[in-house]
Amino acid sequence: MAELSKMDKLISLCKRRGFIFPSSEIYGGYSAIYDFGPLGVELSNNIKKAWWRMFVRERDDMVGLDSSILMSPKIWEASGHVQNFSDPLVDCKKCHQRFRADHLLESAGLKPGYDKDQPLDTKGLKCPECGGELTESRQFNLMFKTQVGSMEGSTSEAYLRPETAGGIFVNYKNVQQTMRKKLPFGIGQIGKAFRNEITVENYIFRVREFEQMEIEYFIKPDNWEKHFEELLNLMKKWCAYLGLKEANLVYHEIADEERAFYSKRTIDIEYNYPFGQKELYGLAYRTDYDLGRHQKFSGEDLTYLDPETNEKTLPHVIEPSFGLQRTILAVLSEAFEEVKGGRSTTTESNKEEEMVLRLPYDLAPVKIAIFPLSKKEPLLGIAEDIAKDLCPFWNVQYDETGSVGKRYRRQDEIGTPYCITVDFDTPNDGKVTVRDRDTMEQERVEVKELRNFFQKKLIY
Ligand SMILES: [Zn+2]
Repeated sequence: MAELSKMDKLISLCKRRGFIFPSSEIYGGYSAIYDFGPLGVELSNNIKKAWWRMFVRERDDMVGLDSSILMSPKIWEASGHVQNFSDPLVDCKKCHQRFRADHLLESAGLKPGYDKDQPLDTKGLKCPECGGELTESRQFNLMFKTQVGSMEGSTSEAYLRPETAGGIFVNYKNVQQTMRKKLPFGIGQIGKAFRNEITVENYIFRVREFEQMEIEYFIKPDNWEKHFEELLNLMKKWCAYLGLKEANLVYHEIADEERAFYSKRTIDIEYNYPFGQKELYGLAYRTDYDLGRHQKFSGEDLTYLDPETNEKTLPHVIEPSFGLQRTILAVLSEAFEEVKGGRSTTTESNKEEEMVLRLPYDLAPVKIAIFPLSKKEPLLGIAEDIAKDLCPFWNVQYDETGSVGKRYRRQDEIGTPYCITVDFDTPNDGKVTVRDRDTMEQERVEVKELRNFFQKKLIY
C-alpha cells in the first residue's frame, strides 16, 4: 500500500477525532461543503474569538459589525460582482463535468492571461477526466442566486453574499456617526460568505460556503503607506499568534498589471500548505473605489466631514481579509506532527507512529483532560469534582476508558495541552499528576491549587 500523504493523514485525523465532517455525509456528501464537528467548532470559535480580540477589542480605532447575508442586490451591482465576479467555464461534451478553463490552461503549461470579455482559447485542450472534447469557454458568475419574498420574478431576486465586505461599506455611515468615529478607523466583521465555485479543491481550501474575517479600514488618502504597513504588521503578528512559521509564509506583492485597476497596492499572504503554496490572506489598498461606487449607485452622500478642518472627503479604504477555513487548514497543517516509533517512554507505549497536534494552547479545542485511574469511588468522585470545578473556565474532557497511555495519545492527537491523572495516591495526599503535551513532563499538583495552576499556564 502506498504511504498516505500528510494531507490524507490530516483529513483522516479531522474526521476520526470530530474536527471536520463532509456535509450531508449519510446522503453521500454535498458539493465541497463541510461541517465542523464538536472539536472543529471549538477550534473555529477560538480562532474567531482571538481574531476579534486582536483586531477589534484591543484597538481603540476599530469597532465591530454583524451585517446580514441577504442584502439589497444593488450592493452587488455597485461592487461589480454582478458583472465581473465570474470565472471562465468549460464543459466536457462527453462526461459533462465542468472545469475552469484558466486552470486547465495553467496545468497545460500555457499562461491564460485572459480578458474577461474574450472567450479563452481552449483549442487543443481535452477533458482531464475522460479525454473528451470541451465546449468553448464562457463566463460563469460565482454568486448564488435566491428569491426573497413569496413572489417569483426579477424584483425579488437576490444573492447570498459572496463576501462580507459589502455589508461593511453600506453601514459605513451608520457606524461612523453612531460611534462618533474620526478617520482613521476600521470596522471588523466575521461572517459567512458563499461562492458557487466551478472547481473545488484541496479539502476545505476552496469551498462553496465559508467564513470570512474582514476589516475595512477607512483613511484619508495621504499617509496610506503608513496605515498599510501598520495593518501588514498586525497581520504578521496574527500569523505568529497562530503558530505559523515565518518559513511557511510568503508575502507576495501583486504586480501593477495583475492588481485590480483601483488598487494601489495589494499583498497576498501565501502559506505553504501540504499541497503547495497557496493564498491564505490578502491585504489591499482599494482607494476610494468602494465608497465611490456605493455613493454613485445609492445616491447617498458618503463623504466624511472633518470636525477640525471642516473639509469633506470620501474615505479611502485598506482591506485586510482573512478566510476562516484557510486559517484552520494552515493552523492544523502547521501543528500536525507524526512521531515515528512513538514518543512515549512508558511501557504502555505501543511504539507505533503517534500523532501530536502542537496547537497554540489558546487555540486547542480541549484545554484539560481528566483521567481517573479507576472507574470506582473514591477516584471517580474526585475526578468529577475536578471537572466541575474547571469547566466554567476551560473546555475540559473527561475520559475513563483505556490505559493511561492510550488516553494520552487520544489527547495528543487533538492537541490538548494538559492531562490530569487522578491516581490511587490522590485520596491520601490530595494531589494529582499533571502532564504537559509538549514536554511530556509530569508534576504533582494539589487538587485545590489546580485552578490557580492553569490560570498561570493557560493565560493568553
Ligand atoms: Zn470528460
